[in-house]
Amino acid sequence: MYDLDNKVAIITGAGGKSGIGRSVATRLAKEGSKIIVTDIVENPYPEEGWNGLSSVVEEIVANGGEAVQILSDVTDFSSINNLIKEAIKKFGRVDILVNNAGATADKDRVPIFDLDENEWDKVIDVNLKGVFLFTKAFSKQLILQNQGGKIINISSIAGKKGSATFGAYNASKAGVIRLTESIALDLAKYNINVNSVCPSWVDTERVDVYVEHLYQDNISHKEKRDLHLSNIESSVPLGRYASSDDVAKAVAFLSSEESSFITGASLNVSGGIIA
Ligand code: NDP
Repeated sequence: MYDLDNKVAIITGAGGKSGIGRSVATRLAKEGSKIIVTDIVENPYPEEGWNGLSSVVEEIVANGGEAVQILSDVTDFSSINNLIKEAIKKFGRVDILVNNAGATADKDRVPIFDLDENEWDKVIDVNLKGVFLFTKAFSKQLILQNQGGKIINISSIAGKKGSATFGAYNASKAGVIRLTESIALDLAKYNINVNSVCPSWVDTERVDVYVEHLYQDNISHKEKRDLHLSNIESSVPLGRYASSDDVAKAVAFLSSEESSFITGASLNVSGGIIA
């Protein structure tokens, strides 16, 4: 366990039921951090019994933690600044930022010659520019507080290795890794650690969206999903899909004082892919 008592963490893109954001938020709350969960809409993947951000907040509060939800769009600087203002009003400070929001994997998953310019822009705007804008606003607040802080960017193994039909996503996630290094150097003198985490495939709601594009065959959604999961598992040296909790464990470590001399790193959480 890590001691994050009295820390305040913001987690972006945190409204999905099986999303990485939810796991990170609940894990950091267990470590003692107060939590602000944010997403572009309250419930990005509605289903029975799941109310998105409010369900995450309820879960944290039911387990004895403290959490609030604030909507924000990571591509909109004024919306981000507004969130930080609200966070300061509520908790008086911020300490940890997890840049987790990601553009829906959808129409961008095509060969480069079919990739629509707007789809490219959408992916780069959310995945890369969003990290820039949120970090810009957040780091200004950390510098003002003058007590250091932690920024963790969720990149991907897709930022380390290209794949066919992943052009925009590969470019955005590779950009996050390099941007992380640059920001780490900008912020080192303020005792702010900046690192990225690079998961392999995690079974979240995104999978439901992109399997439809990866497997065009005339098979059912469930068959596409099962086929995808078994293809992935057989390619992972440790023999299984990553879980959102695997990613949350790495984020908890990078949010804690146990990682105080680590900055500018990109940590694979990939069961050995890209070893
Ligand atoms: P999710 O789709 O659950 O999480 C991403 C969230 O970001 C969604 O709720 C999405 O909302 C939200 N979002 C999209 N655009 C914006 C915006 N402009 N402002 C604020 N929020 C926005 O997926 P995951 O949990 O799978 O992914 C989380 C992160 O992990 C992403 O960055 C992803 O690229 C990365 N990752 C995921 C892997 C996987 O296999 N699942 C593997 C490696 C990395 P909406 O759905 O409404 O667009």
